[in-house]
Amino acid sequence: MISGLVTNIQGYSIHDGPGIRTVVFMKGCNLECQWCSNPECISPHPEVGLIKKLCTKCGKCAEVCPNNALEYQADKPPRIDRARCDGCGICCSACSYGALVLYGRAMNAEEIYDAINRDKMFYEASGGGVTASGGEPLLQPQLVCDLFQKCQRASIHTCIETAGCAPESALKQVLPYTDYILYDLKHLNSEKHRKYTGQPNELILYNAGIAAESGVETLFRMPLVPGINDDEQNIKESVDFLHGLGNNSLRIELMPYHRLGKGKYESLDREYPLSDVLSPESEHLESLKKAFESNGIMCTISQ
Ligand code: SF4
Ligand code: SF4
Repeated sequence: MISGLVTNIQGYSIHDGPGIRTVVFMKGCNLECQWCSNPECISPHPEVGLIKKLCTKCGKCAEVCPNNALEYQADKPPRIDRARCDGCGICCSACSYGALVLYGRAMNAEEIYDAINRDKMFYEASGGGVTASGGEPLLQPQLVCDLFQKCQRASIHTCIETAGCAPESALKQVLPYTDYILYDLKHLNSEKHRKYTGQPNELILYNAGIAAESGVETLFRMPLVPGINDDEQNIKESVDFLHGLGNNSLRIELMPYHRLGKGKYESLDREYPLSDVLSPESEHLESLKKAFESNGIMCTISQ
């Protein structure tokens, strides 16, 4: 059975599809959005995060690392040489204080299913289920298929949370086992999309059409980032695009930008790209919501 890399399996989510859900965060994404709140899910390889405030500077991790990737510093947390680290996770097991976290563990569909199945009673009570997120789950389509087939056999609702930047074949492979799609639209202008995410948007918009035509219930969502995609032109182009997808796609959810991922950037020794950007004001969000609604698109704002 095929394995893939999973960074986290998080239960009791109410923001990632209908009802109460367990979210499987898959590792690896081919976008690098400047506002990403899951930077640990971007690289397709295992990585170690260091939560400096939990470190007691005991030095045990540096003693056990087989690759000499950790440099002990008496007065500071250890320094990670990321070129030497192969993500074996030995240091994470050795740290008694939870200061080292391994992002990315190999799991197969059976192991993931066993983990999500523990919360089945919550799915049944709330109309929830499992959501494959990331990262980009469509970069591991066979693993998603294996997992979703098991879920569907057990009457567990399945949802994929995608940015759509993946081969058309991957999307079509996963669709027959998917009950619900959360589909991100980040910017309708391809050059700006490339500037802020590292990739143009043509493939994403093309795959959006396939999702919309598939008959699988699809909710388009837009991460709303002040100064990047909240201008009148982008809203107008988003409205036109959704109308072009047909009557089943006339709704969108706005996801206001937040800085909740900042600590994870620090744990990975990465610079936080949008340090000057603040969350959008609620009045501004309401005015954008009205702009969609007055153009025939049902709009909600996520919490
Ligand atoms: S083992 Fe944990 S607490 Fe000790 S130095 Fe390493 S990271 Fe810090
Ligand atoms: S994950 Fe392995 S190689 Fe990397 S720092 Fe820890 S012990 Fe060393």
